[in-house]
Amino acid sequence: MTNSSSARCKSLLGWYRRHARILPWRETCEPYPIWISEIMLQQTQVQTVLPRYRQWFDIFPDIASLANASVDTVLKCWQGLGYYRRARLLHQAARHIMQQHQGHFPQQFDQILALPGIGKSTAGAIASFCFAARTPVLDGNVKRVLRRWHALPDASERMLWQQAQAAIDISPDPAIWNQAMMELGATRCGRTPDCAACPVRRHCASAFQQAPAWNTSRKTTIQHVHWQVHLHLHPERGIWLVRREENGIWGGLWAPPITELPRAPAQSPCHIHPLTHRRLHLYALHRHETPSGNGQWCRHLTTHALPTGILRLLRKHRLIDAEHRLCGLDEQ
Ligand code: SF4
Repeated sequence: MTNSSSARCKSLLGWYRRHARILPWRETCEPYPIWISEIMLQQTQVQTVLPRYRQWFDIFPDIASLANASVDTVLKCWQGLGYYRRARLLHQAARHIMQQHQGHFPQQFDQILALPGIGKSTAGAIASFCFAARTPVLDGNVKRVLRRWHALPDASERMLWQQAQAAIDISPDPAIWNQAMMELGATRCGRTPDCAACPVRRHCASAFQQAPAWNTSRKTTIQHVHWQVHLHLHPERGIWLVRREENGIWGGLWAPPITELPRAPAQSPCHIHPLTHRRLHLYALHRHETPSGNGQWCRHLTTHALPTGILRLLRKHRLIDAEHRLCGLDEQ
């Protein structure tokens, strides 16, 4: 252990103990709530996750209740969090735990990694937080911090894993270490680093430096997609919905039939829904013929998990109220 890495470790852990945000998943060592929080936080902001995290346990208090639920119930509970594949994989993993581990969350890193939807970084987080394993986390925040510490903006994944392992190996508490690294990346060493307020600025090769060393985030290209949303409405039966293919946008959710348009139509979209790499331009088309194919009429949208983009489109057309109840069908 070098003097510098030891001093950095001490500074970081001291800062974390004094300044860490109080978050409910940090107040437990139980694997089930920690697993749920790690999956929810993968692509969703902390402020969005907080209320949903609490609600989750009212519906699924334990792994068995999650495993026994229908996938529709799980998707419904996930509604609005996006990246619905996470919810489907949580459900599959809960069933796997019931079948292969007698309902007990596995304790070994390799067993955790084998669960559906869990990658190396998430397995590292759970194994360290719950079972004190020296397994590093390497999420986007931690990668950015490590690249900056070592002034290696182009460091490969392999190199970053080695650095992350070397760092956790000298820390006295792997759970706190991982938490502190994630906290530093989330609150000090973000896209615009706050080096003046950073506890490890004396041990960071990039402290107070200017671009381009800071620009570790890659530019994302946004693809614009134009979708026709076919609205079949019936005064008594409601709206016609189909389940979307699992491997695609809004996979496994219910939505009116959608077709992709080859180019942007002349009229403006009813709603533009942003995703990470795409902008979905949605155009509503009222259809008067009887729908065909696999689908079902739905009178109460509260029973189905619909994408937020579709709910917003229906809202703009005054077809649902604030509680997502269908209304105004007679006018169609
Ligand atoms: S000193 Fe600046 S660049 Fe280095 S870890 Fe801290 S915030 Fe990030």
